[in-house]
Amino acid sequence: MSKIIAIANQKGGVGKTTTSVNLGAGLATIGKKVLLIDIDPQGNTTSGVGINKADVANCIYDVLINDVNPKDAITQTEIEGLDIIPATIQLAGAEIELVSTVSREVRLKKSLEQVKRSYDYILIDCPPSLGILTLNSLTAADSVLIPIQCEYYALEGLSQLLNTVRLVQKHLNTSLQIEGVLLTMFDARTNLGIQVIEEVKKYFQQKVYKTVIPRNVRLSEAPSHGQSIITYDPRSKGAEVYLELAKEVVSNE
Ligand code: ADP
Ligand code: MG
Repeated sequence: MSKIIAIANQKGGVGKTTTSVNLGAGLATIGKKVLLIDIDPQGNTTSGVGINKADVANCIYDVLINDVNPKDAITQTEIEGLDIIPATIQLAGAEIELVSTVSREVRLKKSLEQVKRSYDYILIDCPPSLGILTLNSLTAADSVLIPIQCEYYALEGLSQLLNTVRLVQKHLNTSLQIEGVLLTMFDARTNLGIQVIEEVKKYFQQKVYKTVIPRNVRLSEAPSHGQSIITYDPRSKGAEVYLELAKEVVSNE
């Protein structure tokens, strides 16, 4: 079985990239074959797994715009079982270039058909917008994982995201599912965090993962070392919870 999961929320800073890298590393650690797709021009997932963007020959831009075979854009990471199609700043032009392209929303889907069978999970780290790159991701995906930061206004903007999901389901990808809602950056010392959890659970019910990601300094340090939390500090709380999330994602199949 092979599954494509888009990690999406048009809000920035909610933990999409942290979740892509560390859920990917967690799934690989428990023996799954994982491909990360970095489709955010900022390329934080790419640098987060230790890839030097200057060394990238083919990135996701080339796959989307230049019809490069995705196999020729796949790079291995230090973690066994974890590969990536990187993003470079080149991708910043793609939103505009895709506007005039035929079947612009299905380009990623078409490309991934060539590699899907080689992986158990393909995780797509989406940019913080609902533009063509996110539409490509939702169209290519079997499901969408939505990280929500345990903060004020946590639910703000979510109706817009869910509207986009419904539009994609109607016009581009009828089988798109909600994979799960992940609460991130939880701080047990505040009542706010607990209130947000209750609110989100009321809204999404059983779609909310039991695993809640706490605030953990080690999680925010790992990217500057080009490492997932599981290699950077395997004994940290962050490593423990992302491994737990990986198991929960697998057990939901
Ligand atoms: P997004 O991709 O949604 O913009 P990021 O994953 O880049 O969000 O996270 C935003 C910032 O918060 C980053 O600096 C990241 O290192 C930090 N961060 C994310 N999750 C946690 C966490 N659980 N604990 C502490 N810092 C976190
Ligand atoms: Mg990001």
